[in-house]
Amino acid sequence: WSTTTTPIDKLHDLSKTSYPLCMRTLHEALCTNSHLRNSGRMQYGLFLKGIGVTLEDALHFWRDAFSKKTDGSAFDKKYAYSIRHYYGKEGRQTNYTPYGCQKIISSSVGPGEYHGCPFRHMDRDSLCQKLTSYGVFASNMTEILDFAKDAQYHLACAKYFEVIHNKPASKPLLHPNAYFAESRAISTE
Ligand code: SF4
Repeated sequence: WSTTTTPIDKLHDLSKTSYPLCMRTLHEALCTNSHLRNSGRMQYGLFLKGIGVTLEDALHFWRDAFSKKTDGSAFDKKYAYSIRHYYGKEGRQTNYTPYGCQKIISSSVGPGEYHGCPFRHMDRDSLCQKLTSYGVFASNMTEILDFAKDAQYHLACAKYFEVIHNKPASKPLLHPNAYFAESRAISTE
């Protein structure tokens, strides 16, 4: 995982420039709803840990993101434990690693949940709408949607990477944190 620390005041910008679509979707849902259900918190929380967000910053970030609906003491009672848990600081002190694509793609996603892989879990219309709002033009849209329809989720993701960065990734990206690392490597070239 990342050996450098990512400051939380950069996350919003990074969600647009360097997050894969699964994490961008979670970040956006969190900002819009001031809440994420457990599976979404875990998928996104472990990704953040993997990109170098410290435990202390993670607690600040989640408390602040939840603050429109949950006051600080309620957050500490209800949610802080699970954030510390991701960092191996509670319970059996398991040092959880960020989820890879395979695990994310095979997760089940219910109504009102935003985890999972959008190329696998979103219907075609919603995916099209989301990609359009992120500036993906029609010329690339059909290719991405067709890859998703044919269960070629990594190819859809690779095309999304290429569109966002104006160049393809140098290797297959099979993990959201690998996507992020590749994106950061490109933007600091
Ligand atoms: Fe995320 Fe992997 Fe799906 Fe890309 S293919 S959106 S990195 S789960």
